[in-house]
Amino acid sequence: MSDTIRQIGFEQIPYFRTEEFSNLMLECNRLMLRFSDAPDGSQSLFLTGSGSSAMEASIMNLFNKNDRLLIVNGGNFGERFVKICKIHKIPYQEIKLEYGQPLRELDLEKYANKKYTGFLVNIHETSTGILYDLDLISDFCNRNNLFLVVDAISSFLADSFSMKKNNVQVMITASQKALACPPGIGIIVVTPEAIDRIKRNKVSSLYFDLNEYLNNSYRGQTPFTPAVSILIQLYSRLREIDNNGGVDTEISRVRMLAQHFRKEIESLPLKIPFLSLSNAITPIIPENISAYELFVILKNEYDIWVCPNGGELKDKIFRVGHIGFLNIEDNEKLILAFKDLCRRNIL
Ligand SMILES: *Cc1c(COP(=O)(O)O)cnc(C)c1O
Repeated sequence: MSDTIRQIGFEQIPYFRTEEFSNLMLECNRLMLRFSDAPDGSQSLFLTGSGSSAMEASIMNLFNKNDRLLIVNGGNFGERFVKICKIHKIPYQEIKLEYGQPLRELDLEKYANKKYTGFLVNIHETSTGILYDLDLISDFCNRNNLFLVVDAISSFLADSFSMKKNNVQVMITASQKALACPPGIGIIVVTPEAIDRIKRNKVSSLYFDLNEYLNNSYRGQTPFTPAVSILIQLYSRLREIDNNGGVDTEISRVRMLAQHFRKEIESLPLKIPFLSLSNAITPIIPENISAYELFVILKNEYDIWVCPNGGELKDKIFRVGHIGFLNIEDNEKLILAFKDLCRRNIL
């Protein structure tokens, strides 16, 4: 997080049922719609909860037992969509992919013309680092008349993305990834088609009834007390991106950081496992040391925090982020640490 954003976290929290706060929320709505390139008549909904709350609320409100969904499951976040559908008894079929395997045309074709109604994908499966091909998915959805929901939580502001171009009906993101704010706000951008689905559906939930969020959003409000301070931070961050040249400039900056990092580690005993990567993170396989051990050494001896993996991948892979308030100097600090570890015969 930038100093500006952290400074806002230090301020008193204002009462929020006011014209001032409504105007701030309306501006957040406007900028989110612009940055996701949403079609006319779309609306942004702000939930107090982490990204998963926005995933669950979306599924509960958009679909019901009469739907049949296809879910791309190539990691922890794909698995989360599966769990949500199971809990809410929404029929689904998983498209199961191996670790880091891209989604190919032939993975989709067997589900063509089979009366599915919706498609769920985490466009950047953050647990592995793979970025799926949204043009391919969008084309399949258009041909089969599938309602497309994209979890872009870690891809938004890191990889280019357009709801209009790819006919995405719902885009989900959260405050704590490339938006570089504290965790606590989930954001759902809904098109008129999605709004229509929400209005027609009956949802058994008080807190997650998106009709309420929708009705309130037109006056810049939320049904319940939101995480007010995070929304003020979010407003500041969205304005900052806009003033610095907009979403394309921010994506270029993240891409440049990712490319710089990937080029610099080419000569080190660190392997990048596959090609189709998001700009948001670089997954790395260290050749001579356990990935988790390396994470611990970087944290304890160099005061550098990279992101370890859990489960089967714990000792195999770790991840380096490029989103948020990071710069070339941060890359260089980490690369110097890698080089030092090579000298010490640890890496
Ligand atoms: C971070 C992330 C989420 C949300 O996780 P929370 O911990 O609930 O914020 C969901 N999907 C993807 C792809 C993510 O990267």
